[in-house]
Amino acid sequence: MLDCSTLKVNLKRIKSDILTLAEIGQNHEDRGIYRMAFTDADMEGKRWLSDRIEDAGLALSTDGAVNISGTLHGSTDQPRILVGSHIDTVPCAGALDGTLGVVVGLECLRRMHEEKVVPQRTLELIAFSDEEGRFGGMFGSQSVAGKINPERLATMSDLDGVLLGDEMRRHGYDPLAALDAARDPETIANYLELHIEQGPVLDRSHKPIGIVDEITGLFTWSVWLRGEANHAGTTPMDMRNDAFMGLADFAHEVPRILEENGSDRSRATIGKAQILPGAANTVPGLVEFSLDVRDTSEVVLEELSSAFRKALSAIARRRNLMFEFEQKSYLSPVACSTEVVQQLQKQSEQLGLDYHTMPSGAAHDAQIMGSIVPIGMVFVPSKNGQSHSPAEWTAWSDIEAGANVMLQTLAKLSQG
Ligand SMILES: [Zn+2]
Repeated sequence: MLDCSTLKVNLKRIKSDILTLAEIGQNHEDRGIYRMAFTDADMEGKRWLSDRIEDAGLALSTDGAVNISGTLHGSTDQPRILVGSHIDTVPCAGALDGTLGVVVGLECLRRMHEEKVVPQRTLELIAFSDEEGRFGGMFGSQSVAGKINPERLATMSDLDGVLLGDEMRRHGYDPLAALDAARDPETIANYLELHIEQGPVLDRSHKPIGIVDEITGLFTWSVWLRGEANHAGTTPMDMRNDAFMGLADFAHEVPRILEENGSDRSRATIGKAQILPGAANTVPGLVEFSLDVRDTSEVVLEELSSAFRKALSAIARRRNLMFEFEQKSYLSPVACSTEVVQQLQKQSEQLGLDYHTMPSGAAHDAQIMGSIVPIGMVFVPSKNGQSHSPAEWTAWSDIEAGANVMLQTLAKLSQG
């Protein structure tokens, strides 16, 4: 067996895979890729990947959630290592979100197999279904993590009301089989994922590698401040219950709340707001807005939640408004495995690559897998921090660097 420490990925092959897969589902007018989960284009992408797995001599398998796997069998039956991401896209996507992690995982296993490396632990490439959320998101990884139930399977639908079950049946799959995709966590040692950063940090700091230590958790609220709609001319300024002024006060307090109750990893965003009734000559009687709050610590998230509630109550009292909110979603933060983080750092150093240890501000399949097994994530820089658009790009040299870090880390971790 060859000494794995000299093993390198074949960048030419990675390039060709990325560019070929980018043509599947590409719209020639806006150059965007439309490979949303379980569309014909997504299924064509899955078939393309299956062919590449077979060409590479890896064992091809598809589970009940239509996750596609390619396996390089190890010499022992120790828990296996999974590496992957997703190949479904948002509408009008770029070529790398998800796809890069799958192509890199494939290349790592392919390189080891062609050099006749037999790892001690089995290595499995996995491309998860519907990460991007046509039917809610993370469907494939949630199925593997055992977080799907028959009720959800029967009711999950896209924005046009198309049921996931109908789409799966249309392609010849039984939706209930997704329940069989659940794995025993004892059979998995680690899940690793390489992903584009989708933010500006690595690009600005000119570092080719990001090593994720924590994946952010979040809560999102819908908030209502109710006042009284009234004539903009006849209602004196001191006799108004102006709902928009309540929102303006609150927006102004967000930085102070983050400073006092958050961490340097806290983020809060009011991304959507509606002023009602919405007439230029009417004092607003109602504002409805969203609040998206993120941090890598569950304790900090709780503190922020209570601080935001207090601030909104105080503003409502001061402005004579009624305050209501509803929590729309909650996702727990997940810490990456210290052992994997250290291995990624060590391999980056040995390859002479500058890295930055950082949180992930976005959710990925790794977050779901992190609820059942120890995980690790590698980021590569996104040019200008752009993502979810045809402008999304990463320099080939950075892709090569990230892929080699992944290859070396897999080689080490698979030695049991
Ligand atoms: Zn992604």
